[in-house]
Amino acid sequence: MSYMSGRPVRPSGSGNPKRTMTAQLRALGNTVAVLATIAMVLLVAFVWMVTAINKQKKSNKAADTSATTSSSVVQADSSSETSDTLPPETTPESTPEAAHASFPEGTKLIALTFDDGPDKYTSQVLDALERNGVKATFYVIGSNVAGTDAAVFQRMLDLGCEIGNHTWSHVSLRDSEYDVAYNELKKCDDALMEKIGQKATTIRPPTGQGLAQDALFQYSKDNHEYVVNWDDVSCPADWQKPALGDPDYTAQFVIDNASDGTMVLLHDSHQSTADSLDKMIAGLKEKGYTFVTVTELLEARSASMGLTVDKALSLGWKQELLEEAYPGGPVYGVRYAYSAGKMMFEKRS
Ligand SMILES: [Zn+2]
Repeated sequence: MSYMSGRPVRPSGSGNPKRTMTAQLRALGNTVAVLATIAMVLLVAFVWMVTAINKQKKSNKAADTSATTSSSVVQADSSSETSDTLPPETTPESTPEAAHASFPEGTKLIALTFDDGPDKYTSQVLDALERNGVKATFYVIGSNVAGTDAAVFQRMLDLGCEIGNHTWSHVSLRDSEYDVAYNELKKCDDALMEKIGQKATTIRPPTGQGLAQDALFQYSKDNHEYVVNWDDVSCPADWQKPALGDPDYTAQFVIDNASDGTMVLLHDSHQSTADSLDKMIAGLKEKGYTFVTVTELLEARSASMGLTVDKALSLGWKQELLEEAYPGGPVYGVRYAYSAGKMMFEKRS
């Protein structure tokens, strides 16, 4: 029978019974439907994949911005290194520059930092920041963290501030054994974890010393935390006279000596510092500064990453600082050029 013969179906198969043809047409229809369904599924899968890839790209970019991984930093390094000479291979959206597009070219950035707290005047400092609508970075001491109400840290975060690691007991990392230094850093983060469920994003070694301490680099590497110091030129030295006890002097010193990319060292343990902030912030705003956290500052200035010793020296980095930080080796991970006394270090890769 023709039904069994397997001959191709023809629209007007004169020899076939009508019923058989209908069945064949139905079978054909079913096949088309199945194929259409498969095509549909493939299309949906493709769209989903493209969306997922785009999401991944965006989240990578976000990771770059928040500087949570060392690998993202290394990638940013190489792309910014080559961007001087080669046309960018990536889309504008994925370049490090675009990731910092929130700061238009020519924006002057400044990061106020408060060390050694939380202390007596931390709330007053936060009041001033809130009143003036700006944010800052707090390098806290772990043992102080343990004795401070969690609400203080929550308020910092609510105001857009960042919390940095200033060790557990403000020891000199330079003079500490490896294990002691490592534990000092860890205990500060542990205290923050217990208090607010998150660790610091950057580390500032007490007194700024100990950059050559291996434990500092190992800890920063293990925990994706940057190591930074501050800008000597704009630092009013608020712990001693003439700044100590003189809010006007403190404010004016910072206003007069700040430059683009400045990281200002202050302490929330002095009333005169807390009292200086309204005037200081107003003066800096008048000069066109945008207030950022330390991580934002580092990210916004990533173009100068990937320096070698020679390049760093040509940019004016101090030889002795380089030697202390990276004895004998290349300056991988230097985040920022020395300029007007700025000293910042990224974790060594
Ligand atoms: Zn300190």
